[in-house]
Amino acid sequence: MKHNLLLLSLLLSLCLFNQAQAYNCPIDATKPAIRYLGVGALDIHYQGTRLLTDPFYSPQSLWEIASFTPYTPNHSQIKTVLGSANQSVNAVLIGHGHYDHAADAPAIKEYLTDHAQIISSKSTQFLLASKMQSNRLKGLNKEEFGQWLTIANGWVRIMATPSEHAPQALGINLFPHNHDHALEDSPKYVWHWTQGTNINWLVDFLAAPNSEAVVERIFIQTSASAFPVGIPDIQDGIDINKVFLAAASFDHVDDYPTGLIKQLDPKKIIFIHWENFFKPWFNQPDALSLIDFDKLMSNSTLANRAKDALIGQPGFCY
Ligand SMILES: [Zn+2]
Ligand SMILES: [Zn+2]
Repeated sequence: MKHNLLLLSLLLSLCLFNQAQAYNCPIDATKPAIRYLGVGALDIHYQGTRLLTDPFYSPQSLWEIASFTPYTPNHSQIKTVLGSANQSVNAVLIGHGHYDHAADAPAIKEYLTDHAQIISSKSTQFLLASKMQSNRLKGLNKEEFGQWLTIANGWVRIMATPSEHAPQALGINLFPHNHDHALEDSPKYVWHWTQGTNINWLVDFLAAPNSEAVVERIFIQTSASAFPVGIPDIQDGIDINKVFLAAASFDHVDDYPTGLIKQLDPKKIIFIHWENFFKPWFNQPDALSLIDFDKLMSNSTLANRAKDALIGQPGFCY
């Protein structure tokens, strides 16, 4: 009995130790520390610069949505996940305009450096226009897709690829509208945050500002699309270290993420956007009920790369 208790406490402390190690991000600034915050949100630190993706940190319950409660950012939750507002964020990348990808952008103004930009589709720029200063907003023109764009004081370059959005259920794509001009009224209810063009991001962390030498390359796709839509057209021979891929609706489109994994051949596959975001997800996430995780993590879905894939946990670094 005594031995069993000893063994149990040893195992527990080992688990807690591992968890703390995994949760805490590396402090080596020469490598990107990529912290997953849930849904499409990543918090990336590299060489003293900081990038965020798909800012959304505050749940709205199905009851609140059904009872026409306007969406309100939860500032204490934002502080819990992002830390204190300290003007440290150099750029925010937004994959599409739905509220679970963009609705907290106006609420994180205090986190932005003086020259920070919110980089998105034109449609999402128009959604944000009434809530943010225009010099903050960079909606990408068609010609800018497929081109490198340098951000974060030259330490990072990004390439946007237009993508698509899997239907959420029953073949229906909710709130797809693409805005082509700034709105008179800012979005109030979650359904005002419409999709617009979807964007996937290839992100290179560079050895020196504006250098061509790549320390690490990652790919971020925050909504599922049928292969080969959304795949970057790149043949420079640089390996992709990690892909961060939306799990939600993965089997509502063809050959996702199978085709992408075969083509990009990443070292690691991290699934994001799997949490039930109608309730708080940061500390104790529940899964969206429609996701078949066995199928998602199977070798057939993962192009025989199941050993390299994992489900991202909010708060952990990858
Ligand atoms: Zn969406
Ligand atoms: Zn989403």
